[in-house]
Formats: sequence, C-alpha cells, structure tokens
Amino acid sequence: MISLSGKLNRDLERLYDRRRQEAYQRRDDRVRALYDAFPELKEFDREIRLLGLERLQADCRVYENITNPQHDREQPSPSTPDDERISLMDDSPERTFFRNTDPDKTEAQQKSEQAFHEAVARRDAFLRRHRIDPLYLEPDYMCAVCQDTGRVGNRWCACRNVAIQSFIPQYFPDPMSRYALFSNFNLNLFDAHVLSGKKDTGISPREIMSGYVNMATTYVSNFERLQDRNLFFSGAPGTGKTFLMQCIGNRLMEDGKTVMYVSSPTLFDMMARYKRQQLSFRADPEQLEEATMLYDALLSWDLLLIDDLGTEPLTQESFAQLLTVLDTRQNKHLATIIASNLTVRDLSRKYDQRIASRIAGNYLTCNFPPDDIRLRIKNLIEKTGKLDSVDRPFTSQEGLP
Ligand SMILES: [Zn+2]
Repeated sequence: MISLSGKLNRDLERLYDRRRQEAYQRRDDRVRALYDAFPELKEFDREIRLLGLERLQADCRVYENITNPQHDREQPSPSTPDDERISLMDDSPERTFFRNTDPDKTEAQQKSEQAFHEAVARRDAFLRRHRIDPLYLEPDYMCAVCQDTGRVGNRWCACRNVAIQSFIPQYFPDPMSRYALFSNFNLNLFDAHVLSGKKDTGISPREIMSGYVNMATTYVSNFERLQDRNLFFSGAPGTGKTFLMQCIGNRLMEDGKTVMYVSSPTLFDMMARYKRQQLSFRADPEQLEEATMLYDALLSWDLLLIDDLGTEPLTQESFAQLLTVLDTRQNKHLATIIASNLTVRDLSRKYDQRIASRIAGNYLTCNFPPDDIRLRIKNLIEKTGKLDSVDRPFTSQEGLP
C-alpha cells in the first residue's frame, strides 16, 4: 500500500522530470534562435567545444605519463598522422578534434589552455557587444535554487511544497478559494459603528476585524517562530472566518508550507472512511490507499484548517477520532486553525468537555463580531451591477468575509 507521501513522491518525481526536460527544451530553443540570429555565435561555441576537448586530451596524456611512464614505449601510438581527425562520441564535426602529438606535454597543456581561454574571451566580448545573456547555454530552470530537482543538498527545496499544493485538488474534496488573499480583504464591508446591545464592546466590527487581519499577517510572517500557532475563530455565519482562515492558508502555501483545508463534515467523513477501511477484512486497496493518504495528511501537514466545526452531531467514535487528530497535531507542534459558529462554551455543551478544554487550553480564540456582511456584499454587487476582481472573492461559495 502506498501512503500519501509515497503517492505524492511519485507525482512529484514525474513533475520534476518533466520540468527538467522542459528546462532543457527551452534552453535548446533559445540557443537555436540565437544561432539563427548570430551565426558567429554558433562558430564561437563550436570552437570552444573543440578547444575544450583538446585541452582535456592534453590533460589525459599528462595523467597517462604520470601513472604509466612506460606507456609510450610499451604501447606505441597508433600510426596516426599528427593531424588525423578522430571521433570521440559520434561522427559529427563538432565532436572531432585534432590530435596533438606535441612531445612536451606541459607545454601542450599550456598551449591548449591558452587557446581555450582566448576563445572564451572572444565569445564573451561578442556576447557583451550584442547584449546577449552570458548564461544563454544554461537550462532555463523554473527553480534556480534546486535546478528543478526538488532538493537542495540533503533538504527539500521550498518549491517542492509549493508543487505539492498543486496536487491537492486531486486528493482533497474542499479546495480553498484562490481569491482568499489578504490583498482582497475588504475591511469596508464591516460596520464602522460600535454595536449596541448585549455584546457591546466599545469597539466597532471594522476595528475588531482590522485587529484580526493584523494578527493573521503577523501569524503568517512569523509562522516558524510562533510558539502558539493554534487559532479558534468563533462567530456567526457570514462574519469572515472562512475567508481569513483561507487567507492564512493561501499565504503559507505560497511560502512552501503544506496546508490542508477541510470542512467539518468532510473531516469526519475522512476519519470515518479511514477507520472503516482499516477495520475491513476485504478493504478495497484503492479506497484504503486514498483514505490512508488523507488521514496521514491530517496528522502531518504543517497547517490544518478545519471549517464549520460544530455543524453536525458527533458520535462517540467520531468524537474520539477528532480528539486523536487534535492531540497528535498538538504533540507534533503542528498548527491548527478551527472555525466554528459556536463558542467554546457551546462546543462544551454540544460535544464534550474534553474538546472544549483542548480548545480553551491550546488555542487562541478570536471572537468575530456579529455582523453578517453577506447582505452588505449582496447589496454592493446589486449596486455596482458587476463583479470586479475585488468583489468577486466575497461572492464565492464561502461568501466571506
Ligand atoms: Zn526548488
């Protein structure tokens, strides 16, 4: 059975193979276009290749003489004229060179070295004169850091996690809205007046939300350094919880973190399927693989976003599974953000004291002001009569903030 990481690794290997091939293809296309525009450049490169081979040959002969001084006497050179062409790899004229039989090897080395450097200098001057990028022969990698291998030394390159995200929709049923970006967060949608009544805090919803957006940007900028990375967003529907949560998720994904966004019903469904497949004597291998992949991700990815917790009744079993996920992540110091229409106290009443105590003890609670902005968004859209790029995020299925 293949785990999520196994399946992803296979997908990633294919992706990086393809990227490297494309990098070489782009390089070849670029060089071909340059040669068409500057035939002299093709000549320079051909000359440099030949001189490079000649230099290598001179070095090899010195090495042969050092390791086997009798070599020339015991195995006399084949009766090759000094200027006979020999082929190294194939018969193309670019891969042939003149055999240098100068008896003074060191001098031969110096000569071929000098000829090589002079040819390179001539080409460099030509490149400067025609403003051609001196790296025109390099493959055009998408990621210059790892040269499209996904690795830097013994570590994964940051681009690998970004690549992982591109596979997410294949594996996860709840993709995040790509419009959920901090730059799209419209604070003007929140009431600037202090709400009166029971929940009067003396601060307007807009000020409260402004504080939460600031907190969220600090959160993503200091994600590695933060001690407490668990957040609990509590508030009525349509108050911006999902949108802010996804802003955090999208930004961290850009930074190369593995982020999983899942609505509460999907989460419980995933956990139940995993358990069912695990316990089944005749589990379907593909379904078991899929369920295991998703469950592994729940327990190991950098950030887990659980949306709408508390919308469904929980059985003892699903309740225990949720506790396992939260506790495992807590023990591994992995970050979790939960959004709920309920307060911690409601959760305690609806579910169990243990869930409430986990959240009260390990999560920073953000109470979103009771201000349904969806109506305001609807009015705004009707008034403008069109959706521009700023309005659109608030009309997605999340409808937030
Ligand atoms: Zn990379």
